[in-house]
Amino acid sequence: MLTDVKNVRVLVVGGAGYIGSHVQKQLLEEGFQVVVFDNLSTGDKINLLKGAAFIEGNILDKQALNDAMSQNIDAVVHLAAKKAVGESMEHPEIYAENNITGALNILNAMVANGVKHIVFSSSAAVYGMPEYIPLNEKHQIKPINYYGYTKICIEQNMDWYAKLGKLNYAALRYFNAVGYAADKSITGRERNPQNLLPIIMEVATGKREKLSIFGNDYDTPDGTCVRDYIHVSDLATAHTLALRYLMTDHQSFAVNLGTGNGTSVKEMVDATEKVIGKKLNYDYAPRRAGDPAELTADASLAREILGWKPRYTDVEEIIRTVWNLEI
Ligand code: UDP
Repeated sequence: MLTDVKNVRVLVVGGAGYIGSHVQKQLLEEGFQVVVFDNLSTGDKINLLKGAAFIEGNILDKQALNDAMSQNIDAVVHLAAKKAVGESMEHPEIYAENNITGALNILNAMVANGVKHIVFSSSAAVYGMPEYIPLNEKHQIKPINYYGYTKICIEQNMDWYAKLGKLNYAALRYFNAVGYAADKSITGRERNPQNLLPIIMEVATGKREKLSIFGNDYDTPDGTCVRDYIHVSDLATAHTLALRYLMTDHQSFAVNLGTGNGTSVKEMVDATEKVIGKKLNYDYAPRRAGDPAELTADASLAREILGWKPRYTDVEEIIRTVWNLEI
């Protein structure tokens, strides 16, 4: 693995966003040079950390990407994508443009400037309905929503570019990213969140009246859906490990990132109530379309290839890292 990183300059595309800001933090702490490229559409300037350079730009702007890549960039971490599954089914054209055209623009700007390494934010959504759990990377790839399709589409393009000797890549298939840096250094909350824990937190802080739990008649122990919640700081660590690996071993790869532990929606609510010391207002609503009952990761390949092991395995501890920002 690459050890001396002080001369490695990384362009973090989408670095002002939720996961991007944690990746930025991890890179800076390990001594990488960091340039954030972000259009601030969902990201926030408040997430730009001391020591990182910033370019405000859009991945649909080829010239802006080209200018950024020409600044002695050695590697790219690409996290600038739209991620609302429901919206991707209503407006595939928005996802085609941002997640596919935008990502291809990045790959092409890399090729034009001789930038050889990319770590890409992929998703468990590439697998579609699980045929078995925990899911490993050998599971069939059959996305059931357009968002998941955009992710595998870019993985496949990266694979071609890699085969053709243009670059090498790491595709990191995230399960459910949650939590905030425990030292409270990242404070920007997502606007208009669509995911479970940020919604629970909005209920906890009075920003939202109640949580609707989508379905309590699933074939799971308490009837609500089970997911694999992985702390964002653990995800961030996987990015720097992946980068070091790519710059040393040069083999491209795709790996799952999760803890392997399943937690139900109801268990998330109960755990939050324990952490915050009060009851949450929630009700049960119909199932949300396209939700598998259970989704957990077999992340042994990430452990094998990268030596990655999540530090956070207890959801209460994870939830506390979010609640601590509120108190
Ligand atoms: N969920 C819910 N109510 C909400 C948002 C999410 O019950 O307001 C459930 C959702 O149905 C799923 C789980 O919480 O079972 C996690 O959903 P999220 O959107 O956070 O992530 P996903 O697993 O869809 O990537």
